[in-house]
Amino acid sequence: MKAVAVTPRTPNSAHLVEMDKPSMEDIHGGSGVLVEVLRVGACGTDREINNGEYGIAPDGFDFLVLGHENFGKVSEVGENVKDLAAGDYVVATVRRPRGSSIYDQIGEQDFTTDNQYFERGISRLHGYMAEYYAESADFLIKIPAAISEVAVLLEPLSIIEKGLKQASDIQERLKIWRPKTAAVLGTGNVGLLAMMALRMRGYEVHGFGRDPKAGYLNAELCDAIGATYDSTAEISVAASVDKYSEYDLIFECTGYSPIIFDAMQALNENGILVLASVTGGDRKTDQVPSDVINQKFVLGNRVMVGTVNANREHFELGVRDLVLCEASYPGWLSRMLTHRVEGLENYQKVFDILNNSSRYKAIKTYFEIAKA
Ligand code: BGC
Repeated sequence: MKAVAVTPRTPNSAHLVEMDKPSMEDIHGGSGVLVEVLRVGACGTDREINNGEYGIAPDGFDFLVLGHENFGKVSEVGENVKDLAAGDYVVATVRRPRGSSIYDQIGEQDFTTDNQYFERGISRLHGYMAEYYAESADFLIKIPAAISEVAVLLEPLSIIEKGLKQASDIQERLKIWRPKTAAVLGTGNVGLLAMMALRMRGYEVHGFGRDPKAGYLNAELCDAIGATYDSTAEISVAASVDKYSEYDLIFECTGYSPIIFDAMQALNENGILVLASVTGGDRKTDQVPSDVINQKFVLGNRVMVGTVNANREHFELGVRDLVLCEASYPGWLSRMLTHRVEGLENYQKVFDILNNSSRYKAIKTYFEIAKA
């Protein structure tokens, strides 16, 4: 079968490889599932891996099959798989409990303390940019047919769901926390999904991006889901509190780290700032009003938390939000699926769009590998 691979740490090394079709027998204990891949999304992490900045090949290989945002159809199931059958739609989680930390041992590998983590399509495990994959049913989420058209968005949404779950778990310290307003920094595909998940929870949501509002599809999507959009070229997040008041929750997903200091000044008392950008560069910033920020955090019991990856429960929360969003704002999620590329052999096109997403006006670019 065909797959798209890179030679990790070598810029622009994406290429097609021919591999043996996997078999569900590769998975022990009769819990194997063979999945035909229908769609695979591409994101900033794939771009960084193809730029040679990130990514590790599995042991014994000099290449890594890319792809972690996935959607597929079950072809065959092992004898001990009870809740999946051929023809079911599924999305697979990304990280596997292969590390030595206590969190890996208890199945909470998204909280691993190991530096070496195992993520399909990213680190030490081949990914889903292939015609088939085999996986244990433990890592597969069943997808209702009603959301099959948009389920390729579930993996990026799972990252948001974990961030929001962490926020609500942490805020249990307050006994009563009734958040009303949220700001989302970054209105790319992750930011838009964060805005959607917050709107599904009833928040008043304010989105911030760099682009001017006029003619910007992402800003239109903010509007269409009942959120505002402001360009940070016109108003900083810190200054926006005069327009909207301070935020109970801020979700950061711009990839531009200096903005976090701005966000720290825009939180309400007891508020929480969730950081979700994996900033692989070495950007530095000065002019941080550290006394003001520190005092605000101390006197207002504010919180800042980082979040990475996601586990089964976060994917399941994501399924609920996708269903609710389709029911509340029909067609909104499909508008995020701006660029479909048919066939793995057209991988150059996918990277061209990823590298020039503003020019293409791309929100989500994905491969269609087979029809549903
Ligand atoms: C993926 C996560 C992963 C993270 C760090 C993100 O793009 O969605 O599953 O944990 O990269 O590798």
